[in-house]
Amino acid sequence: RVSPVDLSDFGPVETNLYILSFKDVSELRSIDRMRSDFVANASHELRTPLASLRGFIETILGPARNDPKAQERFLGIMLDQTTRMSRLVDDLLSLSRLELKSHIAPDQAVDLKPLLGHVRDSLLPLAEDLGVEIRMHLPDADKVEVLGDRDELVQVFENLIENACKYGQEGKLVDVHLKNDPSQSVEVSVVDRGPGIPAEHVPRLTERFYRVSVADSRSKKGTGLGLAIVKHILTRHRARLIVKSELEKGTEFTVRF
Ligand code: ADP
Repeated sequence: RVSPVDLSDFGPVETNLYILSFKDVSELRSIDRMRSDFVANASHELRTPLASLRGFIETILGPARNDPKAQERFLGIMLDQTTRMSRLVDDLLSLSRLELKSHIAPDQAVDLKPLLGHVRDSLLPLAEDLGVEIRMHLPDADKVEVLGDRDELVQVFENLIENACKYGQEGKLVDVHLKNDPSQSVEVSVVDRGPGIPAEHVPRLTERFYRVSVADSRSKKGTGLGLAIVKHILTRHRARLIVKSELEKGTEFTVRF
């Protein structure tokens, strides 16, 4: 049996509210350390592709000056690297914007049925490239509404479904279930049949720049910031992120509103 792991930061939503007025200095110190680790990680992630871009430019201007074939190949690699760097900067900006508004509760009525359809459509080219089929399982209800921020929820489900396609690629199928049991909360689960995530890694998945294996960072495009962004957005929505994963069977990420 695999036990689900709740990656959300806050306690049960129903608890009474207490205001704590003491200052825990050790906590402040650890926040400081996290900040400087974050800056160091972000700089390192940008520095590596920059150094490599510089190397390619020097080669194109030097040894490969008269070799159009080599130049074309190097320019292709450089284009990939700049795309990766833009993605990283976009993710860093998303995180810092989310931090600024973390205390404001989002208040649009968002219908999850068309939203999930839109996310699926936007991921179809990637899924096709990877040979993965994304299947949607939606309830009959006309609308399934939650209070939220539409663009942020698109980002959450894009990240989760994209991860399921990328890391669960060999399982070929990704299932997205929207459940709207009137007596319970609204839930969206994204299920893949990939290799699964070893239990010791699960609690750390939402840390910034955390990736389960070095092989993932080499072979799969990503920044290691996707799930950190998902967690920030869901915290602002008072929604939970629950992970169930079994090795060689697959992984299920559930968002519970
Ligand atoms: P990335 O940009 O690397 O995809 P994420 O924060 O979205 O960053 O994910 C962090 C790491 O968690 C990934 O690098 C991968 O190792 C692991 N991971 C996420 N989703 C899955 C999944 N569905 N199956 C297996 N591993 C996953």
